[in-house]
Amino acid sequence: MSQQTSSPVPIFLSPPHMSGREQQYVQEAFDTNWLAPLGPNVNAFEQEFCDYVGCKHALALGSGTFAIHLALDTAGVTTDDDVLVSTLTFSASINPIVYQSANPVFIDSEPNSWNLDPQLLEDALKERAAKGKVPKALVLVHLYGQCADIDPIKALCDQYGVILIEDAAESLGSTYKGTHCGTFGQSGIFSFNGNKIITTTGGGMLVSDDEAIIAHARKLSTQAREPNLYEHKHTEIGYNYRLSNVLAGIGRGQLQVIDEYVAARKRNFDFYQDRLGKLPGVSFMPDAGWGTHTRWFSCITIDPAQFGCDRTHVLETLQAEKIESRPIWMPMHMQPIFEQYDFYGGDVSAHLFERSLCLPSGSSLTLDELDRICSIIEKLPVAALA
Ligand SMILES: *Cc1c(COP(=O)(O)O)cnc(C)c1O
Repeated sequence: MSQQTSSPVPIFLSPPHMSGREQQYVQEAFDTNWLAPLGPNVNAFEQEFCDYVGCKHALALGSGTFAIHLALDTAGVTTDDDVLVSTLTFSASINPIVYQSANPVFIDSEPNSWNLDPQLLEDALKERAAKGKVPKALVLVHLYGQCADIDPIKALCDQYGVILIEDAAESLGSTYKGTHCGTFGQSGIFSFNGNKIITTTGGGMLVSDDEAIIAHARKLSTQAREPNLYEHKHTEIGYNYRLSNVLAGIGRGQLQVIDEYVAARKRNFDFYQDRLGKLPGVSFMPDAGWGTHTRWFSCITIDPAQFGCDRTHVLETLQAEKIESRPIWMPMHMQPIFEQYDFYGGDVSAHLFERSLCLPSGSSLTLDELDRICSIIEKLPVAALA
C-alpha cells in the first residue's frame, strides 16, 4: 500500500500519558520486593497527594469507585437511606450508593457550570425535610474538571445536617475560590483510572481532614482486620480495596507533572475555542469563574439547526477518521437501571446530553493533531449545506 492511502493515525479521547518519572518508583518496588497492596510508595503517594490538594489525611485505593464506597460506608449510609447525587455524571458516582442498599436521589444541573444546581438542591431538601426524611448524604460531582458551586451547596448541607461527599474523580487539580476540590466535605474522592488527568492504570484516593474517617476506611479496606491480627476476630464487614505498591509508584511519578498536564489540557481547550468558536451553532462548556477549570475534557455543544448537523454526525465523522470523541454522560435519571429513583429538575442535563460532545483531550495531544481535528469539524457545516 502506498503512503497516501495508509489509514490515519488514531487519536484517542484521553490516553494515559507517562512522564518517564514513574519507572524509578516502580523499579524501587521491585528492588525492595514491596510487591503488595501496601509499602513505601503507597505511604509516600498518600503524603504527596495530601501536600498537593491540601488535606490532612488520604487513603490510596484500587479505584475511585472503591473510594466512593468507603466514603459512604464511613458516613454511615445504609439500607433505605436517601443519598442526593448529581444526575450528570458517570454511573460510578451512583453504583456504590446502591451497594449500600440506599436510594440515590438525582439533582439536575445548572447551565452555568453543568454541575449540580444549588436551587434544586434546596427544593429537594425542603420537600424531604417537610416529609420527615432528610437525606443522609450528598455525593457532589465536580464534572469534567470544574468544581460545582460549593459555597451555597455546603451551606445547605450544614443547615439540613446532610453529609457532604465530593466526587472529584474528574477534577484533580481544579480549585474553588483558591482551594482544591475534594477538600470541602467530610470526605472527597479522586480517580486514577487510565483516562483521568493522572493515572496509576487504575486507582483512587479517599481524602478527609477527619483522621477517624480515614482510619476507619483504612481498616475496612483491608478486610476490616482488628488490631489483634492473630485472633482473626472480626466485628464488621470489610473489603479488599487497597492500591498496589507498584501502582502507587506510577502515581508518585504522575503527581510530579500534574501542573504541566493541567496546562496542556487547558491549551487543548483554548485551541478548540479559538478555531471552532467561530462556527455557527458551536458553544463550549462554560467556565463559571469561581475557580480553575482544568478542562479534563474539552466539551462542545452543537446546535444542529445553526451548525447544519447534529453532535452524532460530528462524532461519526471523527470516528471515520479514527478520532475518538464521545457524547457527554447520559444523565443518571434517564438510565433504565435507575428509573425507579426520584429526580429533581427539568431538562437542563437532558438537553446538554443531546447536543454535547467530548473532543480528544489528552495532555499528550500535539498541535498537529488538534489542527487535524479542527479541520475536519470546520468542513462539516459546508458539507451539510452542499
Ligand atoms: C472515573 C469516575 C469515577 C470512578 O473512578 P474509577 O477509578 O474508574 O473507579 C467516579 N466518578 C466519576 C465522576 C468518574 O468520572
